[in-house]
Amino acid sequence: MKRALSDKQQDALVQLLGKPAVCVDDNSRKTYGADWSQAADPDPVAVVFPSTREQLHAIIAYANEWRWPLVPSGGRTGLTGAAVAAHGEIVVSLEKMNRILELDTRERLLICEPGVITAQVQQAAREHGLFYPVEFGAEGSSQVGGNIATNAGGVRVLRYGMTRAQVAGLQAVTGHGTWIDEMRCLRKDNAGYALRELLIGSEGTLAITTQAGLRLCEPMPALATVLLLLDDINTLPEVLRAMQRFPLYACEWMDQRAFALGNEAQANPLGVASAAGYLMIEAPADAMTVEALSAALATQPVADVLLAQSSKQAEGFWAVRDSITGALKPRHPLKFDVGFRASRMPAVFAAIAQQWPDAVVYGHLGDGNLHLNLVNVQDPLHAQAQVWQIVKQFQGTITAEHGIGMLRSRALQSTEAHDRLSAMRAIKQALDPNGILNPGKLVST
Ligand SMILES: Cc1cc2nc3c(=O)[nH]c(=O)nc-3n(C[C@H](O)[C@H](O)[C@H](O)COP(=O)(O)OP(=O)(O)OC[C@H]3O[C@@H](n4cnc5c(N)ncnc54)[C@H](O)[C@@H]3O)c2cc1C
Repeated sequence: MKRALSDKQQDALVQLLGKPAVCVDDNSRKTYGADWSQAADPDPVAVVFPSTREQLHAIIAYANEWRWPLVPSGGRTGLTGAAVAAHGEIVVSLEKMNRILELDTRERLLICEPGVITAQVQQAAREHGLFYPVEFGAEGSSQVGGNIATNAGGVRVLRYGMTRAQVAGLQAVTGHGTWIDEMRCLRKDNAGYALRELLIGSEGTLAITTQAGLRLCEPMPALATVLLLLDDINTLPEVLRAMQRFPLYACEWMDQRAFALGNEAQANPLGVASAAGYLMIEAPADAMTVEALSAALATQPVADVLLAQSSKQAEGFWAVRDSITGALKPRHPLKFDVGFRASRMPAVFAAIAQQWPDAVVYGHLGDGNLHLNLVNVQDPLHAQAQVWQIVKQFQGTITAEHGIGMLRSRALQSTEAHDRLSAMRAIKQALDPNGILNPGKLVST
C-alpha cells in the first residue's frame, strides 16, 4: 500500500529545502513523476527541487532515515520509465541545479551542474568555437545528469562515442550518502576501480550526479549528407563495409514505413521515391572525400544516391529522421532498442519481417542499433518474448542505448547471466544498502 508523508515528514523536507522547493500538489506530482515513455501512471508523494549539492546530500540522508525511496529526475525524456515515480516515491528534480560553472577552451572542458539542458552545453560550446557531440532528438529538453545516467547515444556515436566518451569528470552522492568525487578530469587516471565509468549508465540507481566535467571537441567539418535508397536489404553489410573507408559522422537507417511516417510529418514532404530502406550518411564535404564517396557508391548495389545540394536540403533529410519517434507516438507502438553486429543485420531484418510485416524499424545502423517498433500488438508479453528470442539467436543486446529503466528490468533478469546479475546486485548493495535510489529500475533487488 502506498505510504503518505506524515506532517512531520513533510515539515522535515521543508526544513531542509525551504517551502517553494517542496511540492505536493497534483499537477507537480503528475508532471514530474512521469517521463516520455508513459511507462506507468505517475504517483509520487512529493517533488523536491534541491538547488545545491549540500541540499541533495541532505535529501539522501532524509531518505535513509525514513527509508523513503527517491527517483532522480532530469528532463524526463527517457524512453524506458527510468524516471517514472509510480509508487509513492519522492521525485528529486535536478532542474534547479542548472549552472554551467566553467568552460576552459585550452582544456576543451566544460564543468556544469546536472540540470543543465543538453542543448545549452551545445550552445555554450558553439559560442566558444567548440562542439559538444551528444546530439539527438530530445536534446532540447534532456539534461546532462539524465544523459550521464542513461549513457545517452544519438546520431554522432559513430564518430564520437556515447556520453561515456565525453564525461571527463563526475561528482555524485551515493544512495549511502557518501561522495564519489572524480572531478580530476584527467585523460589518463588508473588509480583504482573506474568509479566514474560505473556510475555512467547506472540510471540513478547508485548515486545522484551533482557535477560533471564534459569534453568538448573541435567543430565538425562541413558535412555532405547523402540519402541512399536500397531495394534489397540483404546488400546492407556490403554497403556498410564500403562506407567504412570513410570517416562517417552519421549512419542512420529508416525502413520504408519509418521514412514514410517521418516524411508525412513534414509541412513540405520530400519527393523521394519509395524504397525498401533508406540509409542516411554524413561524411566531410571536401571535394576529395565527396568524389571518392561518389565513386565508391557508384559500385554499390543501391537503387539511388541523393546528395543534399544545400544545407536546407540536408536539414530536410534530418527532419524526416528526427520526426519518426514523435510521429509514431500516437500509434502507441511496443518499442525496442536492440543492437546487433552489422553482418547479422539482414538476417535480423528477415526474422523481424517474418513475424511482424508491419514493424517500423529505424535507428543508428552504423552503431548496430535498431529502434524496432511493433504496432497493433495484441499480446505485448508474447511479442516481447519473441523479440528477446531474436536477440538471443543473433547474440545481440536487449538495449543498445535507451537502457533498462522500469520497462526492461524484468527482461534484464531473464536474459542476462546469473553471475553478471549477481555482480550488479552486489554493487547496488554496496552503494545503496537501503535501496532508496530508484527502486524497481534496472537491477531490481
Ligand atoms: C524524441 C526522442 C529522441 C531520443 N533519442 C535518443 C537517442 O538518439 N539516443 C539516446 O540515447 N536516447 C534518446 N532518447 C532518450 C532520452 O532522451 C535519453 O535517455 C536522455 O539521456 C534522458 O535524459 P533526461 O534528462 O531526459 O533523463 P530522465 O528521463 O529524466 O531520466 C533518465 C534516467 O536518469 C536518471 N537521472 C536523471 N538525472 C540524474 C542525476 N542528476 N543523477 C543520477 N540520475 C539521474 C533518472 O533517474 C532516470 O533513471 C530520446 C528521447 C526522445 C523523447
